[in-house]
Amino acid sequence: MKFQLICALIALIFAVSSLETQAQMLPCGTKVTKADREYALEHLSNSRSAPVTRLFRKISITAHIVKDSLGGFAVTEGQVLAAVESLNSIMDTIKLSFEVCDFREVENHNFSKLIREEEEAEMIALNYQVNTLNMYFVKEIWVGGAPAGGYAYLPGGPDVVVLAGTGAMKHEVGHYLGLFHTFETSVGGEFVNLSNCETAGDLVCDTDADPYFPEIEYDPITCNLTETWADSNGDLYVPPMDNIMSYYGPCRCRFSRGQYQRMADTYLQSRAYLW
Ligand SMILES: [Zn+2]
Repeated sequence: MKFQLICALIALIFAVSSLETQAQMLPCGTKVTKADREYALEHLSNSRSAPVTRLFRKISITAHIVKDSLGGFAVTEGQVLAAVESLNSIMDTIKLSFEVCDFREVENHNFSKLIREEEEAEMIALNYQVNTLNMYFVKEIWVGGAPAGGYAYLPGGPDVVVLAGTGAMKHEVGHYLGLFHTFETSVGGEFVNLSNCETAGDLVCDTDADPYFPEIEYDPITCNLTETWADSNGDLYVPPMDNIMSYYGPCRCRFSRGQYQRMADTYLQSRAYLW
């Protein structure tokens, strides 16, 4: 619990210092498809105990910053660099680092309020650098008619992360490197006792089962649920509220060991051409 409180305080300091914008509080637009699930089940480790692989590799980022109709930009280069520095800090566990190799201004202000279904294909077609991670920074993202803080393509997809601001960068890079939400249920709900953790939930066995739904209430300071929730076995959930792939806003600040291994596996299996 003390650790979660520290997480919340760190998040608060970041928010106050404006190094990471507030867009991380918006929901995420990344959706896990059937192909994503099959890929993860077939290729990726979910071991609880294997030593975490260290990659000693660097991924180049092409940062596409979209101009709005008034000529302003969604983020500054300084904000992007600060977010990448913070990303590098947390990815040091698997010795994977990121470096912005190019900043590009995107002049088409139609993309500033990006409606994914209508405009993403054109934005990517016109602005994409192969063999780099293409990060697009826009003012607003709309996915399925709802605002989103960002989204990413899971393994097998293009090298694309789209962000409204910079606050969701670690979360979306987590998706990009093969992580699902801690509350993912598309392959079935994970039990609190983790007996089905290899085939349900986020397919990572050291992230506790997470009952998250948009109306769930929690204390953002102590990072506790304010009501108890139980799974179908009657076991009470203790969700990993400090996990970056959860949705518990300011509580989020870490990846689990199993998630690090999943990201390292994903890099080696599906993104190793990036470096
Ligand atoms: Zn997400």
